[in-house]
Amino acid sequence: MSDQPAATLGILGGGQLAQMLALAALPLGVQVRVLEPDAAAPARLCAEHLHAPYTDPAGLDALAACDAVTLEFENVPVESLDALRGRVPVRPGAELLARSKHRAREKTALREAGAHTAPFVVIEQEADLDRALERVGGRGILKTSELGYDGKGQVRVASDAELREGWAELGQVACILEGFVTFEREVSLAVARTADGRLAFGPLVENVHRGGILRTSVYPAAVPDGTETRAREMARAVAEGWGLEGLLTLEFFQLAGGDLLVNEVAPRVHNSGHLTQDGGGVSQFEAQVRAVLGLPLADWSPLLPCAMVNYVGVEGAAPDGAPLDGAPIDCAPIDWAAIDALPGTHIHLYHKAHRPGRKLGHVNLVAPDLPTLHQRLAQLEQLIP
Ligand code: ATP
Ligand code: MG
Repeated sequence: MSDQPAATLGILGGGQLAQMLALAALPLGVQVRVLEPDAAAPARLCAEHLHAPYTDPAGLDALAACDAVTLEFENVPVESLDALRGRVPVRPGAELLARSKHRAREKTALREAGAHTAPFVVIEQEADLDRALERVGGRGILKTSELGYDGKGQVRVASDAELREGWAELGQVACILEGFVTFEREVSLAVARTADGRLAFGPLVENVHRGGILRTSVYPAAVPDGTETRAREMARAVAEGWGLEGLLTLEFFQLAGGDLLVNEVAPRVHNSGHLTQDGGGVSQFEAQVRAVLGLPLADWSPLLPCAMVNYVGVEGAAPDGAPLDGAPIDCAPIDWAAIDALPGTHIHLYHKAHRPGRKLGHVNLVAPDLPTLHQRLAQLEQLIP
């Protein structure tokens, strides 16, 4: 590789995902430019920061001058995508984003691509509530179609009265009612596809949530034989059916026996894939950069058993929302030295101000074998509240 940059990559959004995409892109000779309105956004530390709203014409001109543009969140304003159209490849593109940011469209399009999902009913008006719960099996989760994340915008319902109350609670906005799935575990898998149709897959990872937020991910997932193949087949069907360019992560429910239902998709790297940073081999971040820029791309999977524990802001642990201005975050009652001293740990801090419920960092853990991984993971979990 020459000492000239191979390419310039633009990213819509400058949070921790953009930060880690930039950290993966730089060694490939790729320069990174992020459009991000938050002055304190994590990616500003390792990328050129276009500090402006996502719809800012000058900011979008600067992105249009890149070789390709990707994103770290799905709710990109339509105006921004329109302004970039025809000037620079945006990967994934506007059509795919329109699906993945809207639960009802997403679930419908997943089924059209041949993926399996929980039963669901689209709720747009009062009359849609009639018999809706019955149609999904008598127990369900009502979710807003747009802008939900980390379990926000969701209500569990088990009766018609609860469904009506729940819809009122969510502001009577467009929703889907999903049947409640009794699953054995949650797993995820990412797929990447280049514009010329080359496909590659990430590892099948097992995920545990706490309070609606991802707590831990573990590789390999303890799934029945054949589950990973099924996950890959569904990922392939979605990637090809939707004409993916870039990287897409699928979250699944694994049922008893090994069948999979797709819960949702994210058109980008995902929190559950962070463990690929340290398990050996290519990370999900490098995979997204490679797919978006059309570089050589192969399946990426950790070489060793590994896990991730999220570091999420806790109540009352820090001066509320105090900006840290680039200083390392060390205000929660966490013994970072002890975490650092545990064999196989890799600390990743995002340099964000501490707020309850906010993702502030994660710790990856790598071990030579599964028993050791689980033993050290138990120790690590004790150290992260
Ligand atoms: P995130 O942004 O963390 O992925 P989200 O707000 O997009 O979360 P979902 O992934 O739809 O929300 O749901 C969050 C969690 O709630 C799931 O990981 C799962 O544990 C549980 N859940 C969601 N839908 C169902 C369902 N239909 N049946 C049973 N549990 C569910
Ligand atoms: Mg989810």
